[in-house]
Amino acid sequence: MAEQKENLQMEKIVSLCKRRGFVFQSSEIYGGINGFWDYGPLGAELKRNVKELWWNTMTRSRDDVAGLEATIIMSPEIWKASGHVNTFADLMRECPLTKKRVRADQVEPQSGTVIRYSGAYSRKQSEGSTEDEKKYSRLFDEFAPALKSEESIQKLFENNVSEAEVKNIGGLIPDGKLDFLRKATAAAFAKKVFQPFSILLQQGKPMESARKIATQYYTENGCSDPILLGEHVDKVENSVDFHPESGIELSSARPFNLMFKTYVGPVESEDNVAYLRPETAQAIFAQFKNVLETSRQRVPFGIAQVGKAFRNEVTPRNFTFRSREFEQMELEFFIKPDEVIDTIHGRVATISENPQSAIRNPQSNWGWQAWHQYWVEERVRFYEGIGLSREMLGFHIQTKEELAHYARACTDILFKFPFSKKDENGNVKGDELEGIAARSDFDLSQHQRFSGKPMGVFDEELRAAWAKLPKEKQDVLWKRYYDHRKNYLTKSAKPDETPEQISQQATDDANGLAKGQYIPHVIEPSAGVDRLILALITNAYSEVTKTDDKGKSETTVVMKFHPRVAPVKAGVFPLLKNKPELVAKAQSVYELLRPHLKAVYDDGGSIGKRYARQDEAGTPFCVTIDFDTLGEKPELLDTVTIRYRDDGRQERLKISELLDFLLSKVR
Ligand code: ATP
Repeated sequence: MAEQKENLQMEKIVSLCKRRGFVFQSSEIYGGINGFWDYGPLGAELKRNVKELWWNTMTRSRDDVAGLEATIIMSPEIWKASGHVNTFADLMRECPLTKKRVRADQVEPQSGTVIRYSGAYSRKQSEGSTEDEKKYSRLFDEFAPALKSEESIQKLFENNVSEAEVKNIGGLIPDGKLDFLRKATAAAFAKKVFQPFSILLQQGKPMESARKIATQYYTENGCSDPILLGEHVDKVENSVDFHPESGIELSSARPFNLMFKTYVGPVESEDNVAYLRPETAQAIFAQFKNVLETSRQRVPFGIAQVGKAFRNEVTPRNFTFRSREFEQMELEFFIKPDEVIDTIHGRVATISENPQSAIRNPQSNWGWQAWHQYWVEERVRFYEGIGLSREMLGFHIQTKEELAHYARACTDILFKFPFSKKDENGNVKGDELEGIAARSDFDLSQHQRFSGKPMGVFDEELRAAWAKLPKEKQDVLWKRYYDHRKNYLTKSAKPDETPEQISQQATDDANGLAKGQYIPHVIEPSAGVDRLILALITNAYSEVTKTDDKGKSETTVVMKFHPRVAPVKAGVFPLLKNKPELVAKAQSVYELLRPHLKAVYDDGGSIGKRYARQDEAGTPFCVTIDFDTLGEKPELLDTVTIRYRDDGRQERLKISELLDFLLSKVR
């Protein structure tokens, strides 16, 4: 019941998105394309606002983050180094008829009657050319359907069966025909490979429907005019082996790489393969040295990027939540390894020393844990600042089993979408908006190994501090750094690397500390723009029901976006459109606002209708120019009425103060 209500809520939201121009299905006039979405006029403004706010928060208002805008297609070596070519895959299963894929771990259990076929045999293909062959074929046509299984036919073919047994199997074999049948079976085997096929019978459907689908399946797989073999009925309970839509038994699970492949240049050869980036982060690592050298930053510092990413998701779903083309807002924040902090500061400050109030002020002795905690807090504050309250957010702290082998921690920030599932205690946990991962020095190390270019940094403070450390402390820190590097090098070893080479490399790396060299670690807050837009839309959606004097009630939608993200900040209306003085004044107010913020001018219909239109668009303020603005009441000359979307409150404001007032609300 609850789920139905939530589905209804999503349906209303999806329909509003189309009706008001927030989100359209991509290529809609051609029937759409699964997993791709377009943003309409209001959606485009909303998205732009979100990206700009993220960019301002993460780069322009900070001294320690620089920006980057890299290409979508990069050297395929990048994706080998990052591990995406080998491991960026979901296990998936396919419906052998519709070819629709499902993620192996996401098949809903089903129960019911299954009709199984051991295979099929093509009447036409095995007609044969000689008279003898034709005779055998006709015989086989006659008897094959009665043979119960592939195994029984196989046995017959291999001559391991007596005439009496065949009679038993087929029930219909006339005396003296066994030899013909054997030859016919051999002819059929030579021409057709038997493939089992099973289908879960939909409730209320006759057996004939299963036969029809099985026939279609075999026909489409090159078996013209098929004779179905070995039909039998089975029962299954909570089976995850059948496609949720077609009911057909799924293929076995195979890894399916999520990267979109293309070719660079005119020749479609393996040498020219390239990928559409599945994340924006890798460009940041690949350009780490260039940014470091040109931005005059020093570790700790970050590189931020906003841009498109592409994943050939097996099952795009939940509106824009899981799309195949989407945008990410990613920060890679590079920090010193804990051994370096310890060397320079004598200790590493931990989270427990950084209560909520202190976590906002980065300290030079912070280790990775404190930085990780800091970024989780910063990101939550960002969401709160655009209207997503803490109650609507949730957290998922990845377990050791869930973490990638190189990651030290990952906290996902979740949002409670209408489609988010309840846990066993009936609480909605939410679905991922953003992941904040402590990724150690894995990424830069990988690019160093694959490109052969050094990705480490030199730190004079480290070199000087190391020289002053007592030998025992040097040994402890050296060993810790060595162990970490050896662990990484062992796990990421190429097939031709020996344990001796790995130990030598780890030794060289640890010896780097004394020379002031190290590879930075990284904290990665990685957010999805589209998921955030969907969160903002579902969060803003509210319905207001009003009953008029005659008892007639009407429900309207109010999109309660935070003014900072609202697609349109102000609607400007003349009270009446047929009074030139009102229109001229309203136009001048509109012209005053539009260079600074997104405003719309509207003179169509009653004021009430115009308010309702803006409420649906989520416009937080409406400005009305009336006769008092023109000086009907002299004390109100050059003032306007400002109406607040969320409570309908109205105030009088001087035109000279209007812009500052609006800017103070929307920035
Ligand atoms: P999920 O587990 O939901 O597939 P993920 O953990 O693979 O997500 P990341 O690789 O950490 O996601 O990507 C960072 C962010 O990019 C996610 O938090 C999400 O906001 C966004 N994102 C990832 N995949 C998609 C997608 N298919 N559609 C929309 N946004 C996505």
